[in-house]
Amino acid sequence: MQLLYGFLLAGIISFLAYRAHSLNKSGTIAATVMGAIIFGLGGYKWAILLLAFFITSSALSRAFKNRKQDLAEKFSKGNERDAGQVFGNGGVAAAFVLVHALYPESILGWVGFAASLAAVNADTWATELGVLNPTPPRMITNLKKRVEKGTSGGISLLGTVASLLGSALIAILAAFLNPTERLITDYWSLALLITFAGLAGSLFDSFLGATVQAMYFCPTDQKETEKHPLHTCGTPTIHIRGFSWLNNDIVNLACATFGSFIALLFISTIQ
Ligand SMILES: [Zn+2]
Repeated sequence: MQLLYGFLLAGIISFLAYRAHSLNKSGTIAATVMGAIIFGLGGYKWAILLLAFFITSSALSRAFKNRKQDLAEKFSKGNERDAGQVFGNGGVAAAFVLVHALYPESILGWVGFAASLAAVNADTWATELGVLNPTPPRMITNLKKRVEKGTSGGISLLGTVASLLGSALIAILAAFLNPTERLITDYWSLALLITFAGLAGSLFDSFLGATVQAMYFCPTDQKETEKHPLHTCGTPTIHIRGFSWLNNDIVNLACATFGSFIALLFISTIQ
């Protein structure tokens, strides 16, 4: 029965997001399926965490639109999220709901779920707010090197603070909504642990962006871009570095996985 409610709730929210141009068609279907699993198997506490990510990241994508306009060409996708982005950001979270369904007594399902969302939320907040940093970002692999705003692997002070806050929001909700009754530590320690795990996931995302993520070049605009096969101007882009299969969706999946991994590693050391 809860699965049916979950499906309905996920369907309604996804449809509203589609109407608001936050999701395209494939993204709407993917979000309905994933929301149904998370709301249906988890329940309202899991829904709150997922919605905190979904609502704040959609809102931040829209905010400061004018100041971000000229950066749109850098990113592979616009404001409308497709199925790849939905699974990249929420796939790991959905997997941890399944872990919880199998082992409802354990806190590991919840912590893994929360840390994966903390990581993708941290990454999204950093991307959306980092571009407002007054000076150009520095490469995470070489802090002496300044790069153009919006470059994958670039980090800035504002972006890193945004990342920390994005992670902390999910972490604090997770600590106080813990559905398992089992508290391995006090609320604030749990919140702190998940915050750091989320931040680590988002830094890992930048690291992959700077090293192995597929990057392309537009010969018309003489610019580096994530867009492939075509740039916003319509010119076919040329592969310049990284593994061609390692696109932004897979990097997001890795960010979420790394965040969960770090959180579970912390938990295993204090348990
Ligand atoms: Zn171009």
